[in-house]
Amino acid sequence: MNTAEEVKKLLSVPQKIVITTHQRPDGDAIGSSLGLFHFLKKKNQEVYFISPTTYPDFLKWVPGTEHVIIFENEKAKCQELVESATLIFCLDFNKLYRLEELGRFIENSSAPKILIDHHLEPDGFASHEFWNVKACSTAELVYDFISKLNELDSVDQNIATCLYTGILTDTDRFRVPSTSAEVHQITAALLEYGIDHTGIYQNIYESFSENRFRFLGYCLREKLEIVKELNVGIIPLEKNDMMRFGIQLGDTENLVNYPLWIKDVIVSALITQRPNEVKLSLRSKGDFSVEKICREHFGGGGHRNAAGGTSYMSVKETREKLISILARQKSELNPS
Ligand code: 5GP
Ligand code: MN
Repeated sequence: MNTAEEVKKLLSVPQKIVITTHQRPDGDAIGSSLGLFHFLKKKNQEVYFISPTTYPDFLKWVPGTEHVIIFENEKAKCQELVESATLIFCLDFNKLYRLEELGRFIENSSAPKILIDHHLEPDGFASHEFWNVKACSTAELVYDFISKLNELDSVDQNIATCLYTGILTDTDRFRVPSTSAEVHQITAALLEYGIDHTGIYQNIYESFSENRFRFLGYCLREKLEIVKELNVGIIPLEKNDMMRFGIQLGDTENLVNYPLWIKDVIVSALITQRPNEVKLSLRSKGDFSVEKICREHFGGGGHRNAAGGTSYMSVKETREKLISILARQKSELNPS
């Protein structure tokens, strides 16, 4: 039996299913998880979607958002759900540390764990893997998963809206290299369900508060530093910068992509002070792997052109560490 057949068999009987995703979920984490949630509900399964943490307001319209259970707000309930689950789906991450405390409960569960993911370097904790680093998004892989089960007939407008959200956000609006012909074909199929793609776009990208919009201007005008000899753009953000604009969870989303708008910038970095750590978000153009930098130096990972990691130094020291790492790869960043 291949993996899809094995999972099909598991789903042919009633299960108690927990779906989970990475902390501070983005559009793909929420879209793919809720897409799968609706699909499994339609198969009459008992399903719960647990997110380790809350998620940005610009995603709080995705169909099924009222069903999201937030671990950090309801730990005892989530622990009970994970301990009694007979099947666990792990979406849009492949290392349990990305779930923080929730990861321990998942690790201790003896239920089969089904991974659906597109990040590099999986931990190998899952019993069944639908893992493809070439996929543009986990949402694409959920569509593929439903297709492998021969259940595409179950896809409806809600599922299509969720999966479109994942594809739209993880391809950065159909921009990144993994936006293959197949991705466009899946997207076309999703549009056939009559989804409101303009409304989805507006909810996600045209829903800034004035503060968030002014903050974007401040970051580009005052905070962005271009290291010309390395073709690198860095936005270092201290707690004060965020407090000044009343920045909320999700308000820094996408900010890291802006320095790439500059012709010569090959690597962009957003360094953000968080309560207990410094978060690093990296993006690159072309072959330069920011995943390798995050994995080797900042305990993180992701994809070649989009990765993240953590630092326990100050924002300033993290910036210096990053520049010195990049300086050692100067020939790849600035071939001339
Ligand atoms: P972002 O910069 O938007 O937080 O993340 C970029 C990509 O890297 C996403 O695919 C995200 O899932 C992944 N990523 C972010 N932070 C981490 C991390 O600490 N560890 C790993 N393995 N991946 C990360
Ligand atoms: Mn993703």
